[in-house]
Amino acid sequence: MEKKPFVTLEQVQEIARRYPTPFHIYDEKAIRENARRVKQAFAWNPNFKEYFAVKATPTPRLVQILHEEGFGVDCSSYTELLMSKALGITGTDIMFSSNVTPAEDFKLAAELGAIINFDDVTHIDFFEKIAPFPELMSCRYNPGGDFVLDNQFMDTPQEAKYGMTRPQMTEAFRKLQAKGVKRFGIHAFLASNTVENGYYPALARILFQTAAELHQETGAEIAFINLSGGVGIPYRPDQQPSDILAIGEGVRQAYEEVLVPAGLGNVAICTEMGRFITGPYGMLITQCTHQKHTHKEYIGCDACAANLMRPAMYGAYHHITVLGKENEPCGHKYDVTGGLCENNDKFAVDRMLPEITIGDYLAIHDTGAHGFAMGYNYNGKLRSAELLLCEDGSVELIRRAETPEDYFATFDFTHLFG
Ligand SMILES: *Cc1c(COP(=O)(O)O)cnc(C)c1O
Repeated sequence: MEKKPFVTLEQVQEIARRYPTPFHIYDEKAIRENARRVKQAFAWNPNFKEYFAVKATPTPRLVQILHEEGFGVDCSSYTELLMSKALGITGTDIMFSSNVTPAEDFKLAAELGAIINFDDVTHIDFFEKIAPFPELMSCRYNPGGDFVLDNQFMDTPQEAKYGMTRPQMTEAFRKLQAKGVKRFGIHAFLASNTVENGYYPALARILFQTAAELHQETGAEIAFINLSGGVGIPYRPDQQPSDILAIGEGVRQAYEEVLVPAGLGNVAICTEMGRFITGPYGMLITQCTHQKHTHKEYIGCDACAANLMRPAMYGAYHHITVLGKENEPCGHKYDVTGGLCENNDKFAVDRMLPEITIGDYLAIHDTGAHGFAMGYNYNGKLRSAELLLCEDGSVELIRRAETPEDYFATFDFTHLFG
């Protein structure tokens, strides 16, 4: 699929006059349209709900937009819960899917009335000392082994720290029933960033079967099945995007074949997608500030891995467009780098691009999820601004850039300089 930036060079030149690069910019219209497609894909399930994974893009304005579209939030930490609360998102609009959970996090989740998804059977005794058990709770399942889809190896649940074994799921349900829990959710996350349309349907079959068994064994009422996140996006131009309508239809078929015959035809489907919801609709805009010709050709940018960690951390591919040169031939081989004193600070290695000159703006694609969010302050680099390209074409600052004052805010200099 051809990768086209959602802003032009002229727009970026205009925006950069007010908000200097680097910055992440998000496309409101595309995010809303995608949110509506997700709801359409699961419209066959009357109580379907997507809980946007806040960790993917913990930007209040974006979370608010998704809440306006009818989404809840999936939180996994104290501050993510606080952000949701500040946005007026509380109660069962919050799914709390955490692990290695601090007591204060459980306490706040319980106070907010969130649906709490236990990662481990020991969390039950841990939680008992913190808050009363709600009537509706959820447990996270880890089937172990390898996760294989159409003879293709996808991931290794066996090696994942998350979730409970199958016998522990039964034990947890029985224990929770004894504590007064009446209705249950079942959750699992088995593979990350999968563009295969078969992932959710295959996961759904596993969870539906498990739900039927747990219902049989314990008599528990199954309120929802949570397919979690993991639906991928095509980072590379040669990849096909996930077809969310086909995915929804695949889950519907599994529902008809497994859940309905088990007498569980009223179960709600939930999802906790992050990447699929906002990933393609954000870009990191950076300016070329240096060029270097040594053993290789280097393009130096004003953004660095502290603004987008995925290439440095996973060797992840992020497509790059040189704005204004969209139609020029890609005849030059470059390493596109940031300024960290860290040799993995490269957005691209040996990438064929049009000839770049100092002052050119580069759009680094697909930074709308797990982009800004994974930012950090190594080398004293400051986090960038986040901007929203609004539906009416205007540009709104939705998070200002950090300043040195922010960087030093956790120090007390008074005893040094006072
Ligand atoms: C990270 C995460 C998600 C979102 O994952 P995506 O790959 O962004 O869809 C959902 N649920 C849980 C529990 C997660 O940890």
